[in-house]
Amino acid sequence: MSMIDELIACVRELGARGLTPATSSNFSVRLDRERIAITISGRDKTKLVGADLMEINLRGQPLDPALKSSAETALHTQIYREIPDARCVLHTHSLAQTVASKLFAASGGIHFRDYELLKGLSGHDTHEDEVVLPVVRNSQDMNQIMDAIAQWLQPTPRCPGYLIEGHGIYTWGTSINDAKRHLEVFEFLLGAELELSRLRAN
Ligand SMILES: [Zn+2]
Repeated sequence: MSMIDELIACVRELGARGLTPATSSNFSVRLDRERIAITISGRDKTKLVGADLMEINLRGQPLDPALKSSAETALHTQIYREIPDARCVLHTHSLAQTVASKLFAASGGIHFRDYELLKGLSGHDTHEDEVVLPVVRNSQDMNQIMDAIAQWLQPTPRCPGYLIEGHGIYTWGTSINDAKRHLEVFEFLLGAELELSRLRAN
């Protein structure tokens, strides 16, 4: 299966699971050193086809000037530039991501501790680990989000994802499957943290 076909199958599945409401969310895969395929904004992700993807370079410029990619393209290309082994970036807007991003925005990040599922994140082979998922403020100016997240893309072991307040998650991996597994880990852990905070409040 080609990388494009693999990405389409992955996006349709995430759409069917309710992670991409109202044509939101965007997805990309690195085709080679310079070229990235990214979803065109506004398309129904549950019915994604090849024509819903376009090619851009690492600076976010479209290879076909007649096509215009999402305003959030810059967030994808930032990840590919900063993390050379990133092959796929998944950005979704699920309910758990959105609620958790608002609940934890003031603390700047969500600390996940002692979760067996942390082993699903590349580079983390024990649950006795702490992973901080950063939360940055939302903005329609992508430069502001890029500046806020830049420091988090540096440390090792870095967390392969971040939340944008009231918006959703960005996650990536060295393959489409790797990125999808990270998304599933974060989706589960965010749901767990929200459930715990609900129970503790009672
Ligand atoms: Zn978005």
